Amino acid sequence: MGVFDHAEFDAHESLHFFNDAATGLRAIIAVHSTTLGPAAGGCRRWSYASDADALTDALRLSRGMTYKNAVAELPFGGGKAVILADDAAPKSSALFAALGRAVASLGGCYITAEDVGVSVEDMRHVQQQTQFVSGLPQRGNNAGGDPSPWTAVGVFLGIQAAIKTRLDKNSCDGITVAVQGVGHVGGHLCHLLHDAGAKLVVADVNRENLNAVSSAIPVEVVAPGEILFAAADVLAPCALGNVLTAATIPLIKAKVIAGAANNQLSTAADGARLADRDILYAPDYVINAGGIISISHEYHGSSSENEVRADIAKIPERLDAIFAEASESGHTTNELADKLARRLITAGRK
Ligand code: NAD
Repeated sequence: MGVFDHAEFDAHESLHFFNDAATGLRAIIAVHSTTLGPAAGGCRRWSYASDADALTDALRLSRGMTYKNAVAELPFGGGKAVILADDAAPKSSALFAALGRAVASLGGCYITAEDVGVSVEDMRHVQQQTQFVSGLPQRGNNAGGDPSPWTAVGVFLGIQAAIKTRLDKNSCDGITVAVQGVGHVGGHLCHLLHDAGAKLVVADVNRENLNAVSSAIPVEVVAPGEILFAAADVLAPCALGNVLTAATIPLIKAKVIAGAANNQLSTAADGARLADRDILYAPDYVINAGGIISISHEYHGSSSENEVRADIAKIPERLDAIFAEASESGHTTNELADKLARRLITAGRK
């Protein structure tokens, strides 16, 4: 398995492999960039088909965090941790304590938090070992706690911006949104959309998560294999990445793609495939920054929820600027987001 010549390596500053015999923890921490500050990004626990898949995921997610944090104007670089889930090493306080020691050993160049498969409770065990952690239980009205409701708020505001641009709609009332994955972010997003009058089509491979949403609000449930191609105005990918590909894009009916999942595009060329079909794509790391905005406020201390909300309100403004430039220049929205991120990182380096 190549590392320095890996297709997703993209000049990562450092890569760290951890193996803790006592707990069975096997984890990778990828530090893409510390140019704008310590590398910040969540920890994902996932059952990967191979170690190579875990490495690829860590590299892609970590680079995405560099760009996300830059565009959100946070004092963070980008990094990510992945835990290779294993039946022999189930979730436990000891497993996350071992992760905490791994994070501590990096001396503050990486700050961790929750991502897929990891909870606020897990982060409390990490905190026993290191101060370089955020997404801890909220205290009073201070920023903190589970970042996913904040991610959902940002995605909701981003959907409003995108439907205004592409469908000339001023509200979600009456529009249909297909939500792929109704976990932490997707579930919250469904409630926000329902409250705003949207109709929902949903799918999830996890029956418990599906039931939690479908028993609370009216939704049409479709099979996981159908959700990307549902008859909807908006497709909101809120599960895992690599869903927008040369194979799936020709079959998508939605005119807007705006969701929380990281790395939705399989390759940058898929952004052009979407544009060719006149599908407006809200770049994932721009629209899904609400959670890391909350994490940043919490980590740097003494912020209120209102300050988090005010910063998340800038997400639709950033998307509007990208959509307008895409329409004027003919460049794709993902290209323009990458260009903006690189410009901000270069300016920060100077
Ligand atoms: P989660 O694990 O709580 O939810 C993901 C859901 O997707 C689960 O219910 C899972 O069963 C479902 N799923 C997985 N594969 C699926 C498939 N093929 N079809 C349908 N459903 C499927 O994770 P989350 O925290 O809600 O994050 C969702 C996505 O958003 C991830 O890509 C994550 O990296 C990204 N994201 C999350 C945050 C956050 O604050 N949690 C912030 C930014 C980005």
